[in-house]
Amino acid sequence: MALINEHFLKLSNNYLFADIAKKVNAFKVLHPKSQVISLGIGDVTQPLCPAVIEAMHRATDEMATSGSFHGYGPEQGYEFLREAILKNDFLARGIHLDMDEIFINDGAKSDTGNFQELIRWDNSVGVTDPIYPVYIDSNVMIGRAGTLTNGKWDNVIYMPCTAENGFVPKIPADRHVDVIYLCYPNNPTGTVITKQELRKWVNYALKNDTLIFYDAAYEAFITEPSIPHSIYEIRGARRCAVEFHSFSKTAGFTGLRCGYTIVPKELTVATLEGKRIPLNPLWNRRQCTKFNGASYISQRAAEAIYTPEGKIQVQQTIDYYMQNAHRMVLVLKKLGFEVYGGVNAPYIWMRTPAGTSSWQFFEALLYGANVVCTPGVGFGPSGEGYVRFTAFGTHENTEEALKRIEKWMKQTY
Ligand SMILES: *Cc1c(COP(=O)(O)O)cnc(C)c1O
Repeated sequence: MALINEHFLKLSNNYLFADIAKKVNAFKVLHPKSQVISLGIGDVTQPLCPAVIEAMHRATDEMATSGSFHGYGPEQGYEFLREAILKNDFLARGIHLDMDEIFINDGAKSDTGNFQELIRWDNSVGVTDPIYPVYIDSNVMIGRAGTLTNGKWDNVIYMPCTAENGFVPKIPADRHVDVIYLCYPNNPTGTVITKQELRKWVNYALKNDTLIFYDAAYEAFITEPSIPHSIYEIRGARRCAVEFHSFSKTAGFTGLRCGYTIVPKELTVATLEGKRIPLNPLWNRRQCTKFNGASYISQRAAEAIYTPEGKIQVQQTIDYYMQNAHRMVLVLKKLGFEVYGGVNAPYIWMRTPAGTSSWQFFEALLYGANVVCTPGVGFGPSGEGYVRFTAFGTHENTEEALKRIEKWMKQTY
C-alpha cells in the first residue's frame, strides 16, 4: 500500500495569489466594465533586453546544426556563465570564489525550496516575518515545521519585522536556531539590511553553528552604496551561509528561468557525532542526481547580461521599475500613508489605516479604486496591518493606479 507523505496535507489549500485571483475575479464578474490594475503579483512586465534576445537567437542557431548542437550540459552550469558571475557579481566586490562554488539553476525558487533536503528533518528553523512563503512551505513538506497553530508553525521561530523595530529582525536570545532564512533586499517589505546588522547575524551563526540561507534575489535593485549585495561581503560568512541569486527580477527572466546558488567550500555542517561535513560536494551530488542543468539557451541569455551592452540595458529596466517605486512612495506618503521600502527594492510596504486589516484594505482598494495590492498577512502573521505594492508595472498603469488611489482616498477619508 502506497502511503502519502502526510506533511503535504498540513499545507493550507489556499495559496495567497489564488485567493487574490478569486476575489479579483468575483469583482470583475460584478463590474465587467471596470479596468482593474494589478500592483499585486511580483512578476515583471518589461521585455528581455536586446543583448539577451540576440544571445538567445545565436544560441538557438547553434542548436540547429550538429556541429554546434548542445545536449545535456554540466549539472553545475556552463563555465562561460559561472566565470561571468564570478568576475562581475563577486570579484568586482572583492569576493573571491572558486568556479565550483557556483551552481547554476533554473531559478532561485527551486534551490531555496530544495536546499533544505541536505539537513536533518529535526533542525529548528528561524524566519523573518513576514516572509517569502517558499521557505516555510518547503520545510512543512518534509515535516520540519511541525503543526500550524493560530497561523504559526510550532517548530518555526518567527522573527517579527515591523515598523516598530525598524524592520530589523532581532536575533533570538532565548532560543538556539539551527537554520535561518534571510532575504535582503526583502520581499515583501522592500527593506534592506546594513553591513553592521548583517555582521551580527554572521557572528551569531558562527558562534551557534547556525546555517544561514541568504536570498539575494533583489540585490540588483540596491541603490545605496553602503548596503551589502552579498552576505560574503561579511567576513566569516563563507563558513556559515549559502546564497541564492536569480536573474528573474534582475533581468526579467521570470519566464526564461535561470539563477545560481553559492555553496562555499568552507561551509560545513555537523553530524550527530560531531563530524563536520562540507555542504558543497553534497549539493553537487544532489544536483547531479536530481537536476540536469538549466537550458543552454537560458545560460547564454544570462551570460549576455554581463556584457557591456547587457549591463547598460539591464540597468535601464531596473531604473524604469525604480522610477515607479519612487513615484509610489512619493504619492502614497503625500496621501498620508505610512510607507516603507521602494528605495533599494521594487516593493512598497504600506501600513493600512488604523483598524483596517490587510484583507479589508485589499477589498476596499479593489472596490474603491479598482487597484489590486497584496495583503501583507499573506506573508506571515507580522504582515497583518500592511499591504504590498510592486513597482513591476508599466509607468502608465502605475500612474493610473496612483491617480485612482488619490481620488478614492479623497472620497473615503
Ligand atoms: C522572485 C523571488 C525569487 C526568484 O525566483 P525564481 O525562481 O528565480 O524566479 C527568489 N526569492 C524571492 C524572495 C523572490 O521574491
